[in-house]
Amino acid sequence: MRQKLIEQIGNPLEWNSARKANLLLWMYLFDQLLYQGVLELALHWQGLDGWLNRPQAYFHRTFFLLLMATTVGLLILTRVVQRRRGDSVIYEYMACLYFGLTHVYYGYTVGLMSLPVGVVLVGAPVVGFIFVHHWAVATAFISSLLLLFGLSAITALGWIPYAPIATSVHLADGQMDPLWALAYIVFAIPHLLFIFSLAFYVLQRWRAREEAANHLSRTDSLTGLSNRRHVLELLELEKSRCELAEMPLSVIMVDLDHFKSINDRWGHDIGDRVLTAAAHALRDSVREYDHVGRYGGEEFLVVLPGLDTTQSRSLAERIRQTIASVRLRLPTGERISLSASLGMSCYDVAEMVTVNDLVKQADVALYQAKHQGRDRLGVAA
Ligand code: GH3
Ligand code: MG
Ligand code: MG
Repeated sequence: MRQKLIEQIGNPLEWNSARKANLLLWMYLFDQLLYQGVLELALHWQGLDGWLNRPQAYFHRTFFLLLMATTVGLLILTRVVQRRRGDSVIYEYMACLYFGLTHVYYGYTVGLMSLPVGVVLVGAPVVGFIFVHHWAVATAFISSLLLLFGLSAITALGWIPYAPIATSVHLADGQMDPLWALAYIVFAIPHLLFIFSLAFYVLQRWRAREEAANHLSRTDSLTGLSNRRHVLELLELEKSRCELAEMPLSVIMVDLDHFKSINDRWGHDIGDRVLTAAAHALRDSVREYDHVGRYGGEEFLVVLPGLDTTQSRSLAERIRQTIASVRLRLPTGERISLSASLGMSCYDVAEMVTVNDLVKQADVALYQAKHQGRDRLGVAA
């Protein structure tokens, strides 16, 4: 259920511009409904006469309703274009600017120096920079800030009233009106929730994506084994560990025999399947703490920490036998069998060799095994 929902939502970071704009507008519509609900309640509650400036509230109510209709219109627009032409960044610019500027207007009607204005001012750009195009956020933020400064300045000059729909947000003795304090909290809560949940969700998906990218960068896509870079990193790591623990370490290079002829005879696709089967057989024939990587086309590198020459020899023999026992059955009923040649080099802590030297030695031993007739193990001197 949860997984299904996550699949449906996908990664908001990868949504197209129109879909992102659409989410922002939904959230905004929810806000507007809340503001409107509070306002309607206040307008119909006679007891709030001392609290609400009724003529001003009715005057701004018309604009609030118009703005709500605009939000619905933009919601429909962004929904319609979402599937086609939804990539244009213009939708993010539009939604951010609309959200920012009209929020300043809403803020102005209830008081620009208030809690909800502060929350939106700080929260929206932070979430915005994660979620939508940075220039769209910057443009909307700067424009809204300029509008906010402008309105604050002319309010200070006494050209327009502060918080016109409130009779006064402050009581005579300088104390804040508790009803307005409550209204501010109510207006701020949806923003806090939205900012928190979107940031939480997006950052979680971000981490998941980073992990997936990390995994991809280490894995060979055909066989699922470690790729060349990663298996060499693991070899370097194991070599340092074995040096510290004064343990031996062995490296085996495995190369499938006459693999080209498998490709030539059955085609590349079957070749791929054989390669994958060989990789799995290889993986299954080593211990849990050994490492197997695809080093090249049909060459694999096996890292065996803690095994000396004798132990590695018997493990190499097990690998050779396992690969030789692989049978790939084709739909035609034919069976493909294969064999591999192996080259092994063992590292003793006393020696001064690099990881490169170890791989090179294993490669030379492999070459010898090929030369001596294949399907066998060569051991570096
Ligand atoms: P040898 O016994 O001397 O190793 O002979 P070989 O045919 O295995 O060696 P060679 O290096 O001449 O050929 C390796 C072949 O592996 C050539 C290439 O087409 C094939 N190969 C490499 N990567 C892939 C792959 O990802 N998929 C498939 N199907 N074939 C691959
Ligand atoms: Mg080969
Ligand atoms: Mg080869």
